[in-house]
Amino acid sequence: MNRIITMTAYRRPLYTRQVLEALAQCEGVADWRLIASVEPGCEEVAEAFEGFDACEKHVVLNYQRKGLNRNTHAAMLRAVDADVQTLVHLEDDVVPSPDALRYFAWAVEEAMPRLPDDVLFASGYRKSPREPKKKERFLVNTRSVFTPWGWAVDRQRLDWMLKRWRFKNPKCFTCAFKKRFQGSHRELFPLLSRIQNIGFEDGENNRTPQWYRENHFTPWVAGVLPAKPYRLVGGDSGSTPAKARRYVSEAQRWIQQGRPVRTDAEVAAIYELACVPCEHFDARRNTCTVCGCRIRKSGRALTNKLKMATTSCPKGKWGPGATPLIACSSGIS
Ligand code: SF4
Repeated sequence: MNRIITMTAYRRPLYTRQVLEALAQCEGVADWRLIASVEPGCEEVAEAFEGFDACEKHVVLNYQRKGLNRNTHAAMLRAVDADVQTLVHLEDDVVPSPDALRYFAWAVEEAMPRLPDDVLFASGYRKSPREPKKKERFLVNTRSVFTPWGWAVDRQRLDWMLKRWRFKNPKCFTCAFKKRFQGSHRELFPLLSRIQNIGFEDGENNRTPQWYRENHFTPWVAGVLPAKPYRLVGGDSGSTPAKARRYVSEAQRWIQQGRPVRTDAEVAAIYELACVPCEHFDARRNTCTVCGCRIRKSGRALTNKLKMATTSCPKGKWGPGATPLIACSSGIS
């Protein structure tokens, strides 16, 4: 398996050093090759790469500044030229946790081949609304694409992505992609983040350090953990006739009661706090394996049980009558 880490860097040597120091501490880093695409104008950034010797490396110093979008694309093409099979992409402000490479390798080489084609990437980042529990440290789920702060992909999906690359926004390669595919494609993510975003100063989009801190910093990131296996949340049950009947009866009750709906914020909170960490959530099919209903973070009521305000969790974790986590008349407190 040809494993390659691509990395882009520009004008922030302190961040670059921090990322490279963390990368050097990652489990199994010697099994990977680093291909770095470095923008010109800051010798200290290039020097930071000179000092990195944790794995084989190929560092390219751009003759002219390419901008984030084209620089990322160039790094990916170099990985393709090097016949990459498993690719991890880091930017100069995303710090991997000690088991990040092990997580990415598992996600791309073991989990993704068993998942439908709509699962495109493995993201390493998560900003959880609460501290993940100990039992959730090795759980992995899916969500809509695309969270590009430390992510991985296999060769087939990388080729797919490169064919659809858009260059219109020089500062962002994900914006157009996200707009086009976030309703139809998913990515894996760990319930406990394997990436910290430290890019508060000199960001490409001219926002304040405070904005970056509030929006990109995640309070909970994996530290040194035992080498336990990762596990995709959710079982493997499909839609049986009994489950289909149950769903039809839920929908009929909802229609009879005047089609009341939960707000998008309520739906998102139930999804994130109750269903995503739940052992009965089938991330591959976006369904609850107990009742068989579709469970989504957003979407219309008839295709999303959470949107229908007449519904509740079959295990009592949310909805009218549930205590204490997420309960009130509309299903959330
Ligand atoms: S509806 Fe309840 S049992 Fe089903 S996945 Fe959500 S929290 Fe778990």
